[in-house]
Amino acid sequence: MIDFEMSPQIENARTMIHMMAEQTMRPISREYDEREHEEPTEWHEMMWSVSKGSEVTFGGSKGDKKAKGPSERNLTSAITIEELSWGDAGLYLSIPNAGLGGAAVAAAGTPEQRKRFLARFQEGKPKWAAMAITEPGCGSDSAAITTTAARDGDQWVLNGTKIFCTSGQRALDESDGFVVVWATVDKTAGRAGIKAFVVEAHTPGVTVTKVEDKLGIRASDTAQLVLEDCRIPLDNLLGTAEVKTQGSEGFKGVMATFDATRPAVAASAIGIGRAAVDFVRDALAKAGVTIRYDAPYSKVTALERDFMEMESNLQAARLLTWRAAWMMDRGMHNNLEASMCKSKAGLAVTQVTQKAIEVLGPLGYSRKLLVEKWMRDAKINDIFEGTQQINLMIVARRILGYSNKELN
Ligand SMILES: Cc1cc2nc3c(=O)[nH]c(=O)nc-3n(C[C@H](O)[C@H](O)[C@H](O)COP(=O)(O)OP(=O)(O)OC[C@H]3O[C@@H](n4cnc5c(N)ncnc54)[C@H](O)[C@@H]3O)c2cc1C
Repeated sequence: MIDFEMSPQIENARTMIHMMAEQTMRPISREYDEREHEEPTEWHEMMWSVSKGSEVTFGGSKGDKKAKGPSERNLTSAITIEELSWGDAGLYLSIPNAGLGGAAVAAAGTPEQRKRFLARFQEGKPKWAAMAITEPGCGSDSAAITTTAARDGDQWVLNGTKIFCTSGQRALDESDGFVVVWATVDKTAGRAGIKAFVVEAHTPGVTVTKVEDKLGIRASDTAQLVLEDCRIPLDNLLGTAEVKTQGSEGFKGVMATFDATRPAVAASAIGIGRAAVDFVRDALAKAGVTIRYDAPYSKVTALERDFMEMESNLQAARLLTWRAAWMMDRGMHNNLEASMCKSKAGLAVTQVTQKAIEVLGPLGYSRKLLVEKWMRDAKINDIFEGTQQINLMIVARRILGYSNKELN
């Protein structure tokens, strides 16, 4: 059975979050775009108090299934993220919660680790968790990671540099959060040697050395971290320390994080795109332009066609995203669907926001409106959590059965 109807619970949550996005995010959107490295403290406190304990991130489908049937947690998250990103994608990314680091713990951690590292997001002061994969010499090819983790007695000793780590500064310096650091325990083992390690805030040996100035999502901090003989407990390694050179099971475990985070990125992209589409729809209505959805093709104007394309691309991306989330809620393997929705949504949002500026003309380009900001905020969705090209390669690999080597 296929059912596209939302449950009343999800519908109510959506209405509430939309109101919150409109009333609390839009009014400070421009301000925190301009004051890039300042924290919207009051807003963070408010978000922490309303969302503490609830889930805004994806993942953790294992063990979520209630006796009554599958949960709707990931589908609800997709809808929540879309609404929050409709409000402001940079602010959404800056919300104190388990975030990307939490998704990594949920995907690769044991039940004990999930409890130990995630319980903090239910209590106390605002906290962040981040994920550090990217290095100066490695981005798309995460198997090329050079950060090392060497065992010394009952500790791991981490050394290396990580760049472009979302919420890295807030996780390490401004809260009792953590960063999940990907490092190799055996460089000769390639992918099989790569493991994920939880580095707690304020651990000696980890330093935030830089916070990036960016094109978009400027309310979100993006940090560079240096690990110098950073010592962490043995059981902060997520999953197993065993290096299986036959096959890459360990690496697959850490890569599973992306199956959860890519639909989240896609949902955020759709939220930004919808902000632009909603704005254009209103502007056209004020100018007396009605979109004739039922007009014959030969009678449709270029403007109507452009607008319908904007809407339909977003809707296609949304359906792919909901499918990936729905599958996660049922504990189904969604690697293909996660990459499909991420690549479609990343492309759709960059095209939709650019088209919005084109349709609105100079007004769209002006900083008086938020439309130019949405175009700047959009592009990141085509870059992080695997670029457009990388996600398309994953789709091709899974559908056509080609190897990485053949596709490269
Ligand atoms: C604002 C921001 C926040 C970020 N947050 C995080 C974070 O929290 N944690 C984290 O670890 N990283 C984060 N990143 C890093 C991001 O994930 C990487 O930038 C991304 O994975 C791409 O890696 P790269 O920049 O090294 O580009 P490269 O891998 O060097 O790629 C450059 C270009 O080449 C293309 N390309 C690469 N390989 C291939 C191939 N085989 N075939 C075809 N095309 C290819 C890419 O698609 C891209 O267009 C963030 C980046 C930004 C900008």
